Amino acid sequence: MTTKIIKCLVWDLDNTLWQGTLLEDGDVQLADEIRRTVVGLDQRGILQSIASRNDPDHAWNTLEKLGLSEYFILPRIGWGRKSDSITEIIAGLGFAEHAIAFIDDQPFERAEVAHFHPEVHCYGADQAPTLLDLPEFSPPVVTADSRQRRSMYQARFQRDAEQASYQGPDEEFLRSLEMVMTIARATESDLDRVEELTLRTSQMNATGIHYSAETLQSFIADPDHEVLVVTLTDKFGPHGAIGVILLERRPQALRIRLLATSCRVVAYGVGAALLRWLTDQAHHTGVHLNADFRTTARNRMMEIAYRFAGLKTEQCACLTGTETTQAPADAEEITHLHLVPTAQPQTSTMRIDAVDLALR
Ligand SMILES: [Zn+2]
Repeated sequence: MTTKIIKCLVWDLDNTLWQGTLLEDGDVQLADEIRRTVVGLDQRGILQSIASRNDPDHAWNTLEKLGLSEYFILPRIGWGRKSDSITEIIAGLGFAEHAIAFIDDQPFERAEVAHFHPEVHCYGADQAPTLLDLPEFSPPVVTADSRQRRSMYQARFQRDAEQASYQGPDEEFLRSLEMVMTIARATESDLDRVEELTLRTSQMNATGIHYSAETLQSFIADPDHEVLVVTLTDKFGPHGAIGVILLERRPQALRIRLLATSCRVVAYGVGAALLRWLTDQAHHTGVHLNADFRTTARNRMMEIAYRFAGLKTEQCACLTGTETTQAPADAEEITHLHLVPTAQPQTSTMRIDAVDLALR
């Protein structure tokens, strides 16, 4: 059985994160091993939050003085019930209850949280120095995105707040985000996060086929294929890896064998921007554009994106032989879409910083 990994740890402050009671003692101490735990969990991509009974400004100023405030997202500091704080943190993150842990020196508080959230893992303050040794806090793989997970969430909360208060048209909003999309050749160090993307992009995956890290690695090594990883940043910070493209260079066509983008960025127009870029690259290289599509229960949005880009079912010599190059199990279900590409204008809502496929 595999251990369920904790995705967010919620800390109590007085006599748990720090030694002392802020309102009574005025001054509190942070033990070295607690600082090591906070920094260590952060580096593993485990998010951290706070549920504390304290004066919010006083407590936050103290965290700033200790140099720890940046490590905590969605902090709940006030006089309400801790179970309510946990409810709000779970809602803000969209995680399952069993992915949350809570650490508090008071048995009463742990019992109160456990009563309302039976699946939340509760720990006593004495366990804080040893959390890094526990399997549930030790993800088997730490990717580049796990290391920056906290800043990705911080950026998302700011973005959501700004979007909620923005009244203008969508395109104007998107332009105000100052998005930069980077399209680069995947390297071996990207394989884990690229594989993860092919697994969890069910709504925006053109074939629904899962490619293992090993298969992707063999495509990276193959001169007839390109594995591209797409990352996105905006003025609030990084989104991390949000898309993967698997291309085959055919004699008369550039064939999109897989296009998958994260569901989190659908509203940003990423799929359309990528298809526009691919169309332009095919035109620039002097070949046609082909795309594999297979209907799954959930990828209707991707079909619309392909059709909207002008890809359709039609006959062309460039398609000859496409059927023979895929796994037999999927062969009859895959539709081969086709487009004679033209030069594409730049996307107005984002800057694209991309590899030139004509150069290799
Ligand atoms: Zn053609």
